[in-house]
Amino acid sequence: MLLLAAFPVSGSRCGASRRREPFMRHIAIVGSGPAGYYTAEAAAKTWGDGVRIDVFDRLPVPFGLIRTGVAPDHQSIKGVSARYQKTALADNVRFVGNVTLGEQVSVEELRALYDAVILATGAPADRSLGIEGSDLGNVFGSAAFVGWYNGHPAFARLDPDLTGSHVVVVGVGNVALDVARILAKTPEEFAGSDIVDHALRSLAAGKVRRITILGRRGPHQVQMTPKELGELGHLDRAAPHVDPADLPPPEADEGLEPGLRKSVALLRQFASEAQEKPIAIDFDFFASPRRFVESGGRVTHVEVEETAFDGTRLAATGRMYTIPADLVVTCIGYRTTAIPGVPFDEAAGRFVNEDGRIGPGLYCVGWAKRGPTGTIGTNRPDGYNVIERVESDIGEGSGKAGRAGFDALAAERDLDVVTFRDWQEIEKAEAAAARAGAPREKFVDIERMIAARRKARD
Ligand code: NAP
Repeated sequence: MLLLAAFPVSGSRCGASRRREPFMRHIAIVGSGPAGYYTAEAAAKTWGDGVRIDVFDRLPVPFGLIRTGVAPDHQSIKGVSARYQKTALADNVRFVGNVTLGEQVSVEELRALYDAVILATGAPADRSLGIEGSDLGNVFGSAAFVGWYNGHPAFARLDPDLTGSHVVVVGVGNVALDVARILAKTPEEFAGSDIVDHALRSLAAGKVRRITILGRRGPHQVQMTPKELGELGHLDRAAPHVDPADLPPPEADEGLEPGLRKSVALLRQFASEAQEKPIAIDFDFFASPRRFVESGGRVTHVEVEETAFDGTRLAATGRMYTIPADLVVTCIGYRTTAIPGVPFDEAAGRFVNEDGRIGPGLYCVGWAKRGPTGTIGTNRPDGYNVIERVESDIGEGSGKAGRAGFDALAAERDLDVVTFRDWQEIEKAEAAAARAGAPREKFVDIERMIAARRKARD
């Protein structure tokens, strides 16, 4: 039982004759990915010495999507973590790793301790396609598959079988591009990346020869950005193919917004100059998966229905065909994980909120607020906006116990909290274990992360 009265109370309103102590705001941010650290940065800048910010994470390592979502061969994007590190090392910010909200500490407990609890928990779970065969062997969602090659402890043991020749990737967004590119690259093309060793070995032994990317609508509806799409045209042993018949007349591109127009120009290029390389990456547009076909509990084919899209409505045509598939990865978007006691919008897969506010003292930001869209940078204004909102709600703070209260709770429950300094020791151990030319070899299970921290402390 948590006894708040037993904790030191900063900024107490009692004792009118005493000199008034300066108030302190106590902020808990749950999630240490881009949304979490941009929010911490905004809070630290807004209140300076008048705030204490605790950034919680269920993993002992920070940076969320930067570590386990961004593709391992996109190291320049990961460079943004230097900015988060600067925030993490500020005097008024601390990292509280290895603590799971909803398990080791409840939302209500954090609300009692902090003036504002801001959920920056992202969208770590897969949306399900919900068609027959979705739970067959070698059918994975992108959260799991990306987590596997990025060494997320929850997915490190996924062990996808890459020894078949045909892969089907569902969806035409940037995650589909990441997955197709990673599956197509040679081991040499991973030089300088931080792809984890188990994935590199499995990919090197893989036998993939054809990757079919299924888009239920057409080339004008792709969510792929030009830089990422362009990379498919420069792979050593793989080449993209687009069926010219799927492309609308060129003059139809004129009204497209500039980014999409560039992506469509790349698709036109893939259609006109088909390169022949050992691995084919086929774009199959107007194609909706209807059923995964199995043999012995494992996927062998995808049954696909041709669709018709008139610019507004997606219609089924009844024309079916099958594509061989030894492995399927669905890249159709993500969901936030529900937390006991927090209102959740099941259909949208995120917390119920009004411009970031869930209820008194409880907020959300980033993908947990608006769903899984936008770039990493989109989280920056999101973080600043939520702090503006918190500022107008909490004023100077209300004398809550804050981090001292949490520390008492953690001691009472014997929580093994990992600090940012501890993380820096884990980081050093990962850098020391890296193969030649790689920035790190990630620890892929929590026990080894904790062990690396202990070793450094001893
Ligand atoms: P996304 O961009 O929303 O794309 C999801 C794709 O799945 C869409 O093509 C969508 O088609 C399709 N889809 C959804 N439901 C489907 C269904 N039932 N059947 C068939 N197809 C279905 O999502 P994402 O690729 O997961 O990316 C998430 C966010 O992360 C995006 O903002 C993305 O740009 C970002 N990201 C960026 C990078 C980068 O910049 N390098 C890398 C990875 C991710 P419809 O359009 O028809 O719904």
